[in-house]
Amino acid sequence: MRVYFDYNATTPPSPEVVERVAAVTQDVFGNASSVHHFGQEAKAALDEARSAVAALIGADPSEVVFTAGGTESDNFALRGAADALEPTGRRHLVATAIEHEAVLNTLKALARRGWRTTLVPVDQSGVVSPDRIREALADDTAIVSVMHANNEIGTIQPVAEIAALARARGALFHTDAVQSAGKVPINVKTLGVDLLSLSAHKFNGPKGAGILYVKRGTRMQPILTGGKHERNRRAGTENTAAIAGMGVAARQAVQKLETEAGRLAALRDRLESGILAAVPGTVVNGGSSLRVPNTTNISFDRVEAESLLIALDLEGIAVSTGSACSSGTLEPSHVLKAMGLPVHRTQNSLRFSLGLFSTQAEVDRVIETLPRLVEKLRSLTRSGVGAAR
Ligand code: PLP
Repeated sequence: MRVYFDYNATTPPSPEVVERVAAVTQDVFGNASSVHHFGQEAKAALDEARSAVAALIGADPSEVVFTAGGTESDNFALRGAADALEPTGRRHLVATAIEHEAVLNTLKALARRGWRTTLVPVDQSGVVSPDRIREALADDTAIVSVMHANNEIGTIQPVAEIAALARARGALFHTDAVQSAGKVPINVKTLGVDLLSLSAHKFNGPKGAGILYVKRGTRMQPILTGGKHERNRRAGTENTAAIAGMGVAARQAVQKLETEAGRLAALRDRLESGILAAVPGTVVNGGSSLRVPNTTNISFDRVEAESLLIALDLEGIAVSTGSACSSGTLEPSHVLKAMGLPVHRTQNSLRFSLGLFSTQAEVDRVIETLPRLVEKLRSLTRSGVGAAR
């Protein structure tokens, strides 16, 4: 039995999504901008998907702009808003230190263009305090970007409260909701956001499709220039098949949200308490906070995360580490670092993320396998570098 517990990296598409992508690829090849029958068929497929994704986030379909995924949506939100707001003299951006690289590296790019950026840290529980955001806001703050749910530890951020603070200072508010779609309810009106990013492959849709929600009336410059697609907001012939697949995934996410959230929370809690009980020297990162139901991030004392990840993979169990292994050195996770955890805990943590096809048998297999692997790694490093950790 192979176990896939890396749903936050990507999810397998549901059978209905695969069916829709195949059918549209086969039968609906027209260009949605063409006026003839073939084009109108493609446009109808896009319209259907637009309504489905709009329903997932409580938006009007006209506020949904199709993109090639979460990274493009985050880039569009920040660069598109920055381009539109630059002439107003506002040149300051605020975000949290635990944002995804799609946001963090876009901020760096804007900083090279002369924008001031403020990264607000989170507390030990992995949540940003609205007060810290309030302190960071200035008269020239143009955009505030705070993710809805964190990809590494699953913590849910107080987005509605922060959005209100941003608005009160005349700034736009963007949230990267890539990790919350299909896991917790999302409503752009309740959250009070101007811009919101989603990515289809994180909620059992195809890769290479996403959306940016742009609240009606929000000033944005396109970042991809060309034809008049997406009401002049994103040029380029739409990826009809992937977008149609995203529409099906969005509909299924709405239908399954309640039952799936409960089922996943039970599985995740079973996994979490099972690991904590079976493996000494373990602690959950962000465990005391409100979290998406499918994610747990666990530190294993005196273990290097990358070694445990590889040992698990050899047993057929796929998980992830937030820290990146580059040229032999383990980069600490920027999220765990921002929480103020000691260095060893930023390098000894694994993320287990569950989803649609996860089962109790898989959870139990992981709980059963882990103690042996951890004990083996600890005995290997007992007198070596790991002992210091
Ligand atoms: N934002 C978050 C929070 C993510 O977890 C990811 C993917 O890992 C992205 C953005 C990027 O999305 P995509 O893979 O669709 O470009």
